[in-house]
Amino acid sequence: ALARHYPVRLPGGLLGRPATLKAVDGVDFDLARGEVLGLVGESGCGKSTTAKLVLGHVPPSSGEVRFDGAPVPTDRRADWRRLRRRMQMIYQDPLGALDRRLPIVAQIGEPFDIHCPDMPRPERRERAAALMASVGLRPDQAGSYPHELSGGQRQRVVIARALALDPELLVCDEPVSALDVSIQAQVLNLMSDLRDRTGFAALFISHDLKVVRQMADRVVVMYLGRIVEEGLPDQVFHAPLHPYTQALVSAAPTPHRRARNRIVLPGDPPNPVDVPSGCPFHPRCPAAVARCRSEVPSLVRDAGRAVACHLAQSAGGDLSPAPRALK
Ligand code: SF4
Ligand code: MG
Repeated sequence: ALARHYPVRLPGGLLGRPATLKAVDGVDFDLARGEVLGLVGESGCGKSTTAKLVLGHVPPSSGEVRFDGAPVPTDRRADWRRLRRRMQMIYQDPLGALDRRLPIVAQIGEPFDIHCPDMPRPERRERAAALMASVGLRPDQAGSYPHELSGGQRQRVVIARALALDPELLVCDEPVSALDVSIQAQVLNLMSDLRDRTGFAALFISHDLKVVRQMADRVVVMYLGRIVEEGLPDQVFHAPLHPYTQALVSAAPTPHRRARNRIVLPGDPPNPVDVPSGCPFHPRCPAAVARCRSEVPSLVRDAGRAVACHLAQSAGGDLSPAPRALK
């Protein structure tokens, strides 16, 4: 179980009392070869920290990340670079990920310079051109600079560069959130196509249920640094077990209907520095009962489903949806 805690100093009334930000707390999941795992939750739920942990960009406070059986190094040892080829990252902001002073074709070919310094120039050129074509960029755009392209085109450049070395894992943190909704669909379709063609696995992070739904083979829902639910997209979005997922799903409009029977969550948005006792969701949970205030529900797994809620678990280990509201 993976955890990443940060010591923080709280301002103001708490007089700088040291506290712990539990960005990720006891998270545990597997990602199979070629699988796309969707990670969904509100901002501050630990999604991005999970991405950094997976890539070895931050060391875990406890627990371990393993890739293809071996621990992911968090310092820049020799094996770090070898692993970098196999795991690539796509961020939310393509402009921030690109160099404003370099034409895009040079940036798409950059991984070859770093990892394959002996590659002959003509081959490098050919490969960069093929990558551009594979993400739907035109040959005449090769000499363009990032600011000359649209947001969607820039994200295509980032994707092409991420795929240059044929990675086995892509970690995508809100890859389309910065794009217009009309462009989001195009980029998601492109990512689906590329995935079908190249077979990469992906950790696909988004606060947006419909984005996750389109991409994921399996979905993990996080709340305050923990996994609260896991299952197939149809299960999670049609028959959510956890009251938090039920609220998320109820608030998401679909093409065929507006948000219906919307469950409005009371209380403050989650604060990872001040995690409530018992079930961390209890102050906002419409179904909470007395024991939720003191007893932390464990994540119980059964037949590919998992849920961390007292009311969604039977004593026999069977899982069923928590009642929508008992209050
Ligand atoms: Fe709600 Fe209790 Fe379930 Fe937590 S354990 S989600 S508070 S019902
Ligand atoms: Mg984030």
